[in-house]
Amino acid sequence: MPDVTIIGAGPAGATAACALATRGWDVTLIEQSRFPRDKVCGESLSALGLEVLTHLGLIDRLRPLQPTLLNATILHATDGRHLTCPLPRPMWGLSRRAMDAALLDAARDAGVRILQPARCESLQDVLTVRHLEGNRVETLRPTWIILADGKGALLPHRPTPTSDFGIKAHFESVVGPRDAVELFGVQGHYVGLAPIQRGLSNIAFSVPAKKLERFRRDLDALWSQLLTENATLAQRFTHARRAGDWLASLLPRFPVSRRWPPRVIPLGNSAAALEPIGGEGMGLAMRSAELAAAALDQSERTNTPLPVRQLQTEFARLWRTRRLACRALARLLSTPRIAGDLLDWARGNESLSRAAMAMIGKT
Ligand SMILES: Cc1cc2nc3c(=O)[nH]c(=O)nc-3n(C[C@H](O)[C@H](O)[C@H](O)COP(=O)(O)OP(=O)(O)OC[C@H]3O[C@@H](n4cnc5c(N)ncnc54)[C@H](O)[C@@H]3O)c2cc1C
Repeated sequence: MPDVTIIGAGPAGATAACALATRGWDVTLIEQSRFPRDKVCGESLSALGLEVLTHLGLIDRLRPLQPTLLNATILHATDGRHLTCPLPRPMWGLSRRAMDAALLDAARDAGVRILQPARCESLQDVLTVRHLEGNRVETLRPTWIILADGKGALLPHRPTPTSDFGIKAHFESVVGPRDAVELFGVQGHYVGLAPIQRGLSNIAFSVPAKKLERFRRDLDALWSQLLTENATLAQRFTHARRAGDWLASLLPRFPVSRRWPPRVIPLGNSAAALEPIGGEGMGLAMRSAELAAAALDQSERTNTPLPVRQLQTEFARLWRTRRLACRALARLLSTPRIAGDLLDWARGNESLSRAAMAMIGKT
């Protein structure tokens, strides 16, 4: 059987593992964290992601987790003006804690060998893996390596991180629609609110490092400030209580690179990363995994070289327009001076706002 080692069991790595294992590949999946674990994310899974999970027969593994069905996105300017954009196809609100653990279970059931908690420390020549229980170091020589570590940290040309942070926490007793993702403009950035399973809500936002420093990294203090910057956001949280720890991580943002080392395929946020405002990151991670698995399997079966350039072009096509559109939307919503007028204008131009949604990936 052809063999592959996958680094990282997020949406990209776990999906790739399932897709290859069910095609008969010998798959090893390395994950540094113990599961279940929380993860900085808006926890809204796009229609693209749901489509991939359906193709791979994984959707029924997630349904019992009771995700919320999200039918619209509501954009709120700081001055109370807002715009409701129906989603052409629903998204799911589902915690990463639950989803990632279920996908890893699916990979295990499909016959994937899982090394966890274990960290891949190098890809050069051989793959070096440190088992985090006992500190034993193992070296692997797989035929193929899939890098799905969420940041491309092991690539020779690792992407430069931004100076923004992604922050998230779960809350209970949030007042507001349970069937919509809401995005709230604040001063210089924006906040995303998604209802997830079991009556919880997930807050996720990106924040410039400078603003975070002003609050000496006290995330409760920063959050209290954000509630003063958007009245509708404050109203949603009148009776809310935080139901978990704040998590923070550096926010990646970079286009698809064509400098992949030989026999290494980066997927998901190791391949490219966009502004998270559109809730497309996980869907793209899953689609890139599906495309790579199909291409690898095809090349193995036909005994032909993997068409790396073609795969890179397909990835570029997936990310390019969404990256630009998400960046533009984030900028506009983060600029209180223009956000309200923009939302008013979009309300009167339905076909244009539908086109903008399509550029973000909402088709
Ligand atoms: C604030 C914010 C909000 C977001 N909101 C949304 C949203 O609503 N919807 C959406 O679709 N996307 C959203 N995203 C983007 C989404 O989280 C990412 O696109 C997605 O997680 C990428 O999946 P991945 O599998 O590539 O990487 P990840 O999910 O980052 O998974 C990588 C995995 O690799 C493991 N790992 C890392 N290094 C190593 C190593 N050396 N060895 C072993 N294991 C390793 C990690 O522990 C992790 O489990 C958001 C992101 C941020 C920051």
